[in-house]
Amino acid sequence: MAADTIFSRIVRREIPADIVYQDDLVTAFRDIEPAAPTHVLVVPNHIIASARDVTDADEPVLGRMFAVAARIAREQGIAETGYRLIVNCGEDGCQEVYHLHMHLIGGRPLGPMLAAPRGSSAH
Ligand code: AMP
Repeated sequence: MAADTIFSRIVRREIPADIVYQDDLVTAFRDIEPAAPTHVLVVPNHIIASARDVTDADEPVLGRMFAVAARIAREQGIAETGYRLIVNCGEDGCQEVYHLHMHLIGGRPLGPMLAAPRGSSAH
């Protein structure tokens, strides 16, 4: 069995979180350090550590994550203005929590996609 994560404890409602949606496959809750007026995390209820750990068997839950993100975006009133979906993976992707999650971020213009670390270059 996969190790427990802070997000699986939120899924089981063992620790407080502002849950905006939950069903049999996924849970969505507000990020504790929002990067924009709307910042929601959509997570599988079962632990998939990272995007690199996804398998064919995960396709239903991954589809649900996108469908739920679209639904929440509509509910939050940002579907028309647009938003960004982000999945960080591993060390270079600055992943902090090893329980797959999709960031749904919007409610203001978000600017260019990547903020490169100082002194870095694309090459
Ligand atoms: P990542 O860098 O993609 O792994 O993002 C992890 C995200 O989880 C960060 O944006 C954190 O602010 C958020 N986070 C960590 N702990 C909690 C929590 N208890 N409730 C809500 N969001 C959290």
